[in-house]
Amino acid sequence: MKERRPERSPGRLSRRGFLGAAAAGVAPLLARAPASAAEDASASATSPGRPASTHAAGPALRTASAGHGFGPRIEVDPDALRHNAAEVARLTGGRPIMAVVKNNAYGLGLGLVAPVLEAVPEVRGFAVVTPEAALALREAGVRKPVLLMGMASDEEARDLVARDVRLSLYTDDAPGRASRLAASGAGPVTAHLYLDTGLGRMGVPYHRALPWLEALAGAPGLRVEGTFMAFTEDPEFDPEQLRRFVELAGAAREAGLPVGRLHAASSNGVFHLPDAHLDLVRPGIALFGSYPSRPEEERAMATLRPAFRLRARVVRVERLRVGDGVSYGRNYVATRPTWTATLPVGHADGYPRSAVEGAKVLIGGRLHPVIGAVSASHTVVELGEERAAEVGDVATLVGPDRPEIHPDALAAAAGVSVYDVLMHMGAHLPRAMV
Ligand SMILES: *Cc1c(COP(=O)(O)O)cnc(C)c1O
Repeated sequence: MKERRPERSPGRLSRRGFLGAAAAGVAPLLARAPASAAEDASASATSPGRPASTHAAGPALRTASAGHGFGPRIEVDPDALRHNAAEVARLTGGRPIMAVVKNNAYGLGLGLVAPVLEAVPEVRGFAVVTPEAALALREAGVRKPVLLMGMASDEEARDLVARDVRLSLYTDDAPGRASRLAASGAGPVTAHLYLDTGLGRMGVPYHRALPWLEALAGAPGLRVEGTFMAFTEDPEFDPEQLRRFVELAGAAREAGLPVGRLHAASSNGVFHLPDAHLDLVRPGIALFGSYPSRPEEERAMATLRPAFRLRARVVRVERLRVGDGVSYGRNYVATRPTWTATLPVGHADGYPRSAVEGAKVLIGGRLHPVIGAVSASHTVVELGEERAAEVGDVATLVGPDRPEIHPDALAAAAGVSVYDVLMHMGAHLPRAMV
């Protein structure tokens, strides 16, 4: 089951060439891109019952430069993003949405996703975890509010404030730091106060936050725009966390201390904690089309659409004889003659190794199981008795097209979190809007 050796990949260099060309190209990948003449020639047998015109010839280089390389790529669907934002708005009675686009917009690509979401009226701003991501949003032309939920050094904080990024405050020295920052000429500091109500990860512990809030109230040059927390997403404990948060915010307000707008709900809270919708909601994964916690239940509440496809093109089609194996460890051995297709996508691209435990891949309208082993740069699927694919055919490993290849289904088959399916997609993969 486990891969013992790193895969040697002699074709890697030339594939990189394709990738570079694909990344530079502006045309979206066609649903069924025509294979080149060279690819047809490399196929080892002709395809019975498949019209030759499906594989209309075109020079390989032209195909590649038009953005149709073989290597994995991510296609982002802007309609699905808008649809999911509308579903979140519906579930939350039209609450303003602070779209969480951390980790490269959950792997979809920050530069592609942010402009689409910015144009959605309910999306009132964005939240990220690193200073780089916050600045990247501004570089991408995003004008709506941006909140940095993570840490920034003094230098980074100056740049961020100058680009009108909201900071999260949670350290004991925050009052002093914030006023020094404001006095440094960077501009007025707008901040959200991060409270820890039990997650034990970030924020000021709620039980000692009141004196801290008092100190902040006296910090010159600081504007408190909001106060927030994050849930453990333990259904038993979430209500207790919310109680702590709301009580503390109430006590602060009573004492005349500014707390601004309150926010707490991630996608899980959007679905399961209506009392936590508060002044705005802070979803991530739901916007990208995946159900956060309990898909069976959540599917009845809203229809989310996976907002991306992970695709590649078939690089090899071969027929196994009885007894022939596939990939390292010969985890799969054919018990009858079987066609296979190889895809140039592997765990180094973020496709889970454990996909072999039952994941499917869509090629030409049919689903095929992953077999053998997912290696660094290759995945093999079983086509069955028929030669049901050709070199150059587009394969969809993840996408909205069939329930079996939804990110949730891949996560379930592979025994991983759906968050991993999205966020582990390689930063090196070309990404395009379709
Ligand atoms: C990631 C994150 C979110 C969004 O979480 P989802 O489960 O993707 O909706 C919200 N708040 C904080 C603090 C986060 O880190």
